[in-house]
Amino acid sequence: MIFNTASQVTSPPSPQVPSEVYDVIVVGAGPGGATCAWKCAEQHDLRVLLLDRAAQMPRYKPCGGGIPASLARDVPGISEAIAEFSDLTVTKLRHSWRGKDAALAALETTDGSPAAVWMVQRPRFDSYLAGRAVQAGAVLRTGVKISEVLSDADGVTVTSAAGEAFRGRVVVGADGAKGVVGTRAGLRLQKRYGIAREIEIPFAAPDGGLWHPKLEPGAAYLDYGTVPNGYAWIFPKRNCLSVGAGLLLPSEPSPAAEKNLGQVLKEAILTLLASVGLSYPLDSEADAPKLWAHPIPYWTGSEPLATPDGRALLVGDAAGVVQPLFGEGIQYAVRSGYLAAQCIAAGTVARDYTSGIRDFFAAEFDAAARISKIFHRAPLLSYRLAVKNPAGTRLIGRIMAGETSMAHMERRVYERLHVPRALRPK
Ligand SMILES: Cc1cc2nc3c(=O)[nH]c(=O)nc-3n(C[C@H](O)[C@H](O)[C@H](O)COP(=O)(O)OP(=O)(O)OC[C@H]3O[C@@H](n4cnc5c(N)ncnc54)[C@H](O)[C@@H]3O)c2cc1C
Repeated sequence: MIFNTASQVTSPPSPQVPSEVYDVIVVGAGPGGATCAWKCAEQHDLRVLLLDRAAQMPRYKPCGGGIPASLARDVPGISEAIAEFSDLTVTKLRHSWRGKDAALAALETTDGSPAAVWMVQRPRFDSYLAGRAVQAGAVLRTGVKISEVLSDADGVTVTSAAGEAFRGRVVVGADGAKGVVGTRAGLRLQKRYGIAREIEIPFAAPDGGLWHPKLEPGAAYLDYGTVPNGYAWIFPKRNCLSVGAGLLLPSEPSPAAEKNLGQVLKEAILTLLASVGLSYPLDSEADAPKLWAHPIPYWTGSEPLATPDGRALLVGDAAGVVQPLFGEGIQYAVRSGYLAAQCIAAGTVARDYTSGIRDFFAAEFDAAARISKIFHRAPLLSYRLAVKNPAGTRLIGRIMAGETSMAHMERRVYERLHVPRALRPK
């Protein structure tokens, strides 16, 4: 069988049949793919090939790099990666509305202790995870861009754009928001995206300290009202700030809207920076940091994430497992990569993988999507009544600590906004 759709029929290259057959071929060495490769090799002793189109690891990925501490409890070995590569830990959120009307509040667990959000530099974090896969026995090949996936009764052949073929029993599409494995395997054909822009602004704290001298130590900054259906942020890292803006609820895609959106996102970044006394590095400066743009996949929950024969499955952004309220995807990429490894090892991909993802994430993501819709329907009211209230940030702290759920947050939002019970989703 050729995994393909009528609209994407291409002439498949005629690759040489590879002599080496892997148990698992993982396409994409981001947190989803690297975790899957690592766990397949280390815990299940599978023969794993990990491929990435980047010329080398570490590679850059536009991302705020915020990861909730609860991830360490659920995925063995992740706390070591965090200990090594989390630059700073955030325990406060500073909210603002179009750069004004600011409120600082603590992220707290139920017992009142600080709830931590780790700030990782993605190139180093992702490279560490890929390194753990290699240490566990996986083969890592960079500079390999996969363009074709074909399955047959015995396995699957993936072929690079350069015509190199690789053979495995199972292929994992961990190739990000616009990944090709899903499309070639007939999975997630109805993708929709939000979009985010991000810039990393380097700084040197005068006293050699960790935090930017103009910003509140231990705080991440979130600004609302300048991006329709989204927000702008400053996430602190050691010696640099990740500053970005993203639209999370997608509108119908159109080139004109996307072009305009790029400018809207840039202006949101400028507004937030100006509001804290910082300036945007000018484009004309030769060494100005790059303003990146990257899609954020939209969770639908309705499509299968594995083929009926279990030969192909998707993890992370390729599977659309991004939480629709915050646009947070790292922890879900890692969690889905971990679950994928367990299903592959047990030989239960076709039966258990899609349902496992839904069991873990659907209720949370669906509640987050509904909260997001409420917020963006009446953003200023929501900002004043819910976001600015310190109880809202405490609740986010408990969600980040894994102590409570988005469903609980949704109930609190309805109470706060006095939504009649009859109008709340069952
Ligand atoms: C601006 C921005 C800010 C964000 N901030 C946060 C945040 O603070 N916290 C958070 O949790 N999430 C954040 N996210 C989301 C987060 O970045 C993603 O959810 C996460 O990177 C998903 O990981 P992944 O492993 O699925 O995919 P990726 O990290 O995208 O990795 C995919 C890999 O596949 C490789 N690849 C792609 N195509 C091919 C191919 N054809 N052949 C071979 N290799 C291929 C790529 O080179 C890449 O290495 C942000 C996203 C954006 C855009």
